Amino acid sequence: MKFLISFFLLIINVLVYSQDSEHHCAISKIERFKSLNKITQINYPGDSKIDVKYYKLDLKITYSPNYLRGIVTVKAKTDTTSLSSFYLDLVNVLTVDSVTLNNQSVSFFHSSNKLNIQLDRVYNQGEEFSAMIYYRGVPPSTGLGSFVFGSHNGQPAIWTLSEPYGAKDWWPCKDTPADKADSADIWITVSTNLIPVSNGNLVDVILNGDGTHTYKWKVSYPIAQYLISLAIANYTEYKIYFNYSANDSLPVVNYIYPESFSQVKPQVDKTPTMLSVFSERFGPYPFLNEKYGHAQFGWGGAMEHQTISSMGAWSDGIIAHELAHQWYGDLITCKDWHHIWLNEGFATYSEALFIEATQGIAAYNTSINNRMNSAKNAVGTIYVQNISDVWEIFNSARSYAKGAVVLHMLRGIVGDSTFFNILRTYSYHPTVAYGVAVTEDFQAIAESVSGMDLDYFFQQWIYGENYPRYNVNWSKTQLNDSLWNLRLNISQLTNTNPVFFTMPIQIKVTRVGFADTLITVFNNQQNQEFNIPIPGQINSMAFDPNNYILKNVNVTVDVDDGIEMPIQFVLEQNYPNPFNPSTKIRYVIPNEVRNLTTLKIYDVLGNEVATLVNDYREAGSYEIEFDASALTSGVYFYKLTSGKFSDVKKMILIR
Ligand SMILES: [Zn+2]
Repeated sequence: MKFLISFFLLIINVLVYSQDSEHHCAISKIERFKSLNKITQINYPGDSKIDVKYYKLDLKITYSPNYLRGIVTVKAKTDTTSLSSFYLDLVNVLTVDSVTLNNQSVSFFHSSNKLNIQLDRVYNQGEEFSAMIYYRGVPPSTGLGSFVFGSHNGQPAIWTLSEPYGAKDWWPCKDTPADKADSADIWITVSTNLIPVSNGNLVDVILNGDGTHTYKWKVSYPIAQYLISLAIANYTEYKIYFNYSANDSLPVVNYIYPESFSQVKPQVDKTPTMLSVFSERFGPYPFLNEKYGHAQFGWGGAMEHQTISSMGAWSDGIIAHELAHQWYGDLITCKDWHHIWLNEGFATYSEALFIEATQGIAAYNTSINNRMNSAKNAVGTIYVQNISDVWEIFNSARSYAKGAVVLHMLRGIVGDSTFFNILRTYSYHPTVAYGVAVTEDFQAIAESVSGMDLDYFFQQWIYGENYPRYNVNWSKTQLNDSLWNLRLNISQLTNTNPVFFTMPIQIKVTRVGFADTLITVFNNQQNQEFNIPIPGQINSMAFDPNNYILKNVNVTVDVDDGIEMPIQFVLEQNYPNPFNPSTKIRYVIPNEVRNLTTLKIYDVLGNEVATLVNDYREAGSYEIEFDASALTSGVYFYKLTSGKFSDVKKMILIR
């Protein structure tokens, strides 16, 4: 399920592909709501005392006038010790004419957008009942456009988009994603010039002889209330196939406005390739016994209705995004809107995976970098505190971009093969597949597959705010002929929650005459120093070279990089020796010493005969020439003093 998300993607696409100007409104809306950081919660809709097993929507819809007449069947099980009444969510503006229970009329009252239904007796835990609701009216359009009588090219277009709270605008349901029906039927009767499209398989088309026909769609997999959809127009139907094995294929059925067909066709033709890429990475397409498809609608974004995404834009990114939602959103649905990142973060990350599969790692990295730039604008936690506001749930920086970056970071921590193993295991794990999940479900599977404790990771990235801001300072020191020391100081600016981020961080060291080496340090203090012995001479250091971490970083190096620094006080033997009349003396002043340095010459009696150096010297190697033309043959001594260091050597002048 995604709506807004694609809405935002659309904005990006508009900038690139330039479609129409309507989408720019969305930018200002998003900007306007971005600063909200409320922590209020709504009373979650949906009667917790029932467990829905089945929905049947039997809807007659007219365009002139705009009107809906419906009979909705709800089969449910009692989920409490004794139940004498229950409620469904349905907006007040729709009129309920009658309710039957097991074919007998029962009393009801409809207020506060709840349809309260009296049962014919007290039902015990686990007992099933079936209610039919006869209702009619003009559905309102709330949220992102829950039920729209629209148009295209002068022709009728009717569509729904229920996420997050819009299903009750057009049919009585338990309006929470936490309770999926095991199956559903969606029958839609419209004028014969229109094709009504919905979820699952088309099992029958009935000509009613009154200028209408009825399309009967059947859903045989569990489905959440907000993923049930309608899309109605004078569609051109275009069917292609995804051959997922030697003998089996999945129909990909596209319902496209006739005037858009030539433009849209080359885009939907990419769908089988995307199905292949995602099947390989996530596991089999979840609804192989049904279909995948697209139904064009008039909203600027797109929405991952189960087996039939509603599409208002057709970029590669949007097509891939909605398809990926069939796994992450539809197969596994976030249990409540607090955890919407399990839908939107995953679908957004999947766009980068498709780019990686078709264009390579560099294009993937560019895509991730763009998401990171957006993710840095996220205000508040990825866990959505205030789910009463649609724009808080579908915040593009947070639920989409930062959610995607969390998966990229997880991939960095566990490595590629483990990461994709986590995704495949999660997809079909019995605790969540064809059901619902919260962050902790995904965390448990990620920990189980990787064998790692990842609590720190999810706590700070899903329930914490912002991102680390690193200051990194490093230096290198030669320890002996073959070993160097990398000193690495990592400090973080103080954040609110968490105060600082715990992360494993990759460090790439380039060396002289050796291959590059990649090491990982576990940074779990706000100010932390690492000393890492490195075989071979260190040339340079790169912090998080694969850009796995959402971060700002400032790197400084302590010494002039690339110059081999002396570390010991050295006074070398002069050369040549014996000499006539001049010789060279080399000496080394060690690191971090800037002392008065003298180099003096003495004869065998201890008389000072020359001063070659008498000055402050920086650390470094030096060479000085000594001209002995004024001296006689014999033995001389030269003495170097620098701070606490001192050494003397002998030399012979032969004239
Ligand atoms: Zn989405």
